[in-house]
Amino acid sequence: AEDGAKSPAARNKRQKNVAVLTSGGDSAGMNAAVRAVVRQSIARGCQAYIIREGWEGLVRGNTSEPTPFTTPKRTPAASANQSPVLQPTKSVSFSSLPPSKQMELEKATHELNEQAEEDRDKVRVNFTDPSGVAPLSNAPLSFGFGELLKDGAGEGDVEEMQAHGLQSMVIADEEDEKGKSLKGRYIVRVGWDDVRGWLGEGGTLIGSSRCPSFRERSGRLQAAHNLIKYGIDCLAVCGGDGSLTGADKLRGEWPSLVEELLITGKIDEEQAETYRHLNIVGLVGSIDNDMSMTDLTIGAPTALHRICESIDSIASTASSHSRAFVIEVMGRHCGWLALLAGVAMGADFIFIPESPPETDDWETEMCNLLQSHRKVGKRKSIVIVAEGALDRNLKPIKPDYVKDILVDRLGLDTRVTTLGHTQRGGRPCAYDRILPTLQGVQAVQALLEATPETPSYMIGTQENKITRVPLLEAVAETQAVAKCIENRNFAEAMSHRDSEFREMLQAFQISSSLAVNEEAPKDKRLRIGIVHVGAPAGGMNAATRQAVRFCHNRGHTPVAIYNGFEGLLDDNVSELSWLRVDTWTTRGGSELGTNRTLPSVDLGSVAAGFQRHALDGLLVIGGFEAFHSLMILEQNRANYPSFQIPMVHLPATISNNVPMTDFSLGSDTSLNALVDACDAIRQSASASRNRVFVVETQGGMSGYLATMGALAVGAVLVYTPEDGISLKLLQEDVEFLTKRYSLDAKGKSEGRLVIKSEKSSSIYTTEVLTKIFKEEGKELFDARSASLGHTLQGGTPSPMDRTRAARLALRCMQFLEKHATPNSQSSHRSGSKHKKPAYSTETATMIAIRGSKIVYATMEEVLKHTDMKLRRGKDEWWSDIKRLAEIMGGRQGLVSS
Ligand code: ATP
Repeated sequence: AEDGAKSPAARNKRQKNVAVLTSGGDSAGMNAAVRAVVRQSIARGCQAYIIREGWEGLVRGNTSEPTPFTTPKRTPAASANQSPVLQPTKSVSFSSLPPSKQMELEKATHELNEQAEEDRDKVRVNFTDPSGVAPLSNAPLSFGFGELLKDGAGEGDVEEMQAHGLQSMVIADEEDEKGKSLKGRYIVRVGWDDVRGWLGEGGTLIGSSRCPSFRERSGRLQAAHNLIKYGIDCLAVCGGDGSLTGADKLRGEWPSLVEELLITGKIDEEQAETYRHLNIVGLVGSIDNDMSMTDLTIGAPTALHRICESIDSIASTASSHSRAFVIEVMGRHCGWLALLAGVAMGADFIFIPESPPETDDWETEMCNLLQSHRKVGKRKSIVIVAEGALDRNLKPIKPDYVKDILVDRLGLDTRVTTLGHTQRGGRPCAYDRILPTLQGVQAVQALLEATPETPSYMIGTQENKITRVPLLEAVAETQAVAKCIENRNFAEAMSHRDSEFREMLQAFQISSSLAVNEEAPKDKRLRIGIVHVGAPAGGMNAATRQAVRFCHNRGHTPVAIYNGFEGLLDDNVSELSWLRVDTWTTRGGSELGTNRTLPSVDLGSVAAGFQRHALDGLLVIGGFEAFHSLMILEQNRANYPSFQIPMVHLPATISNNVPMTDFSLGSDTSLNALVDACDAIRQSASASRNRVFVVETQGGMSGYLATMGALAVGAVLVYTPEDGISLKLLQEDVEFLTKRYSLDAKGKSEGRLVIKSEKSSSIYTTEVLTKIFKEEGKELFDARSASLGHTLQGGTPSPMDRTRAARLALRCMQFLEKHATPNSQSSHRSGSKHKKPAYSTETATMIAIRGSKIVYATMEEVLKHTDMKLRRGKDEWWSDIKRLAEIMGGRQGLVSS
């Protein structure tokens, strides 16, 4: 008891200091992860630190520490013309030098840095780490924090800001040198406002690097010393498998590192006792999506966006000139980007490392396929090659070689485009803001819950669930894939990929081949109806394309019902050809036409329509009305035998209000449309006097779009129909906005966003809200409104919606094929006793994404989860996210309730 202060329980109670770093190749969304870790740490009562320049920054620590890099030397030529270019000398380990030499080198380094800063345009300082491999910029961090550094920040009510954890700690730390850079400081305490506006920034604002010295124990020893010196006991690392391996090594060695620091007198007994354990968590930042045990890595969705935008542009010119394009995308060991781009673009052929072409003579296979496409009238050919594509003998497949084959054998006018670094950059898409935010919050949670016994976790995602998996297991499995490929064991390499990857590959293969699959059963040729119901949503056309291509591949007949159930009554029905749907992946809206009419409008005529067109199965794509339609058809099966066919509903609506499924097609497209609009609005809001923008979204009685949108754009307040708006709530919100603006840095104009779902309140409309904010904002802030309306249906569907559409449509068609009987309508008519048609509740279902699974739910099950009056699910998985959005927006810290 006398040693209570040092007991494990007491140690756990001690305030934790959480640091975050980004390492390895940068990726979009890393800033969102850093922001979430920083803000969640502060919200949980911890001190937050960022470590600049990845592991290198941790090894270097702050200026007072000996720095392990070598002295750059000026070349004679450079000094002669007064435009020095600095070259690294042969590498030596800094710490192995005698003290006098160390001081000399440090002084020289310091001078060069000073000079570099004075004239950064002319002088290029190329400091390298001891191996001389990785150049590391020592330039000041001049944005992000810089906004606050420059503009007289800290002139607000500092005490109040501190009380709320809002004050920029960068300023607090640099009180004597306000306005100066962070040069030479790699471990920096940060405050709430230091990470403001980071959601929409690409790359990593805290810098990243490769750090060979961290691979050595001596480097990790120095890193450990720095962590202890700054009192950091929790570390979140965002990077690829290399960075996370380093993290696990650091944790594994920690007790011995602490021991060594103690023995060598670098730390004292108390420090050794206090920092006996280091908690580490990994967040996967990688554009290739190459980490096992997680469906998505931070940055991969944005990279896919960039690829699809580029190929969208290429596709139109390819079609105009009837050209072929061979496009190289990133992915050394993982074909995720190439595969998903292939699915999202409706490419003709793809090459990926883990599934090389089946035959050695893949050139002929590819040419035959492309030629078959050309023969039915395709004007363009798109071939996508992953950077690490191989043939079965591990010979790299390079775009130029593919091009030569297409030119020589098919005479196609062929061009090669290498997308390169465009894939890394740019504004993060909605997913790369939401996912890293959720993962960052979970990372802090994992750090605070960690005990010496728990393993280091990697925060991942499975379908729609944020997961924790042992970091080392995930890294080992990732490395196993590369090994399998090296050993030409491609089947095993594929088995390490998640089910989404495998299904996407199957969807791609089915949709790109023209011939009927030899394995398709000849005695089971079906006629499958496809209908769109409700409002248009991104991905409806992509799903239809996949369904049509599935039919052709399996020898079935796809029957399009145009203009919803009304179209069926008008007999607006026809078969769809393979070529007709070719470009539908990229098209927004509904190519078939859609409306809200339910089949109950005339059940007898709808049944007659089913019979007339001899439908053996039905795919209904749409939102709440689509589900309602299917329910009506199912409930009337006893009276109308032609409804006794398998039927499946694929949810598609921007509102994401279909019960039971976590995601509907179209919801990602509209979130991205919302993010684009809000980024522009925020810019305008920040440019004028302090301004609050009340942005109104669609979404019916569901607040999904508003809530997820608020999380993605960093809105400070969000109003949903689920929670409604009351006078008391408004009063608190006004109080919050007033406090928030009064604490802002003087002279700095801040734009803030409030997202309001259109049906949050019939009394406090967007107009009323805006007027109240304007009135109450007085001199502090102004208010304006913007209604996004139908723009949220989005133009081109997002890659996520297109690929999700392909995968789910494939599953739907497999379901129909499994349960359908050929000629079922004629057997109903003739009353055949032999061919009893399928008539069980199990055969009228909705395909739903639930947590980490894809399930088929019967109408009865869906109904149980449905509020028919409010047209939404009874349990909405995202309901807690509204609170999280407000925590991230800072409301919780400033308003008592
Ligand atoms: P990317 O996927 O973009 O390549 P990555 O994190 O895999 O990202 P790496 O260059 O492999 O990138 O690793 C980044 C840094 O992590 C290295 O420079 C090194 O400091 C550290 N690191 C990598 N592997 C190890 C290891 N086995 N032991 C210790 N540290 C490592």
